[in-house]
Amino acid sequence: MLVTGEPVVPGYVPFALLLVLEATAVLAWVLIFARRRLGASDGLLLCSRCTRLHERTEAFARGADGVAVGALTFLVALPFVAAGYERGFTFPGAALAVSTVVAVVAAAAEADFLARAVAARLWPRLTWNVEPARVIGGGARWLGAIFALYLFEPGNARIVGLFGGVGQRLVLDLAATWTIFAAAAILVIAAIVALAARWLVPLAFNSLPTALAAGREPHGSSA
Ligand SMILES: [Zn+2]
Repeated sequence: MLVTGEPVVPGYVPFALLLVLEATAVLAWVLIFARRRLGASDGLLLCSRCTRLHERTEAFARGADGVAVGALTFLVALPFVAAGYERGFTFPGAALAVSTVVAVVAAAAEADFLARAVAARLWPRLTWNVEPARVIGGGARWLGAIFALYLFEPGNARIVGLFGGVGQRLVLDLAATWTIFAAAAILVIAAIVALAARWLVPLAFNSLPTALAAGREPHGSSA
């Protein structure tokens, strides 16, 4: 294949796309939760100290969910945008891009939902029910983390593996490559932040993760 110096997409496009999708996802998450108090402990029996702790950690965890949806959407949308620059933007092309993004995010959410259903079967006394936005965010984090772990490999072979022909041309272009790795890094950080906020920090502060909090076991210093 003849390699010309011409990038597939203008240099600013991948970064601008990532920025717009992240801003949209975070804004959506803010709007979804704006009308409600941070209710991680809705319906759970928590002492007031744990309730305060969970309100704080849940704010971080929700932020992680929102940026993960943005980064996953970017990874799915970028090849379509690149193809649009190569072959021209068409309505069917745009519709295919949007429906692919929706399908990937929905499939990830469905996997998260099923995992919770299985967990509820295995550990019926724990709390696995959460609001839909958290199921969507959790699905995006898990699938995104898998994508990210797959992408992190010296060289750009994995980008080509994931994106196919368009990926092959995208990696010739430093701005696109860079932004793909930035999205992958965001997904890894989101996974770590959510794990820390929902599981490690409550345990470290002598509280319980929300999934375990319904157990009503005595814990922490009574305050
Ligand atoms: Zn407590």
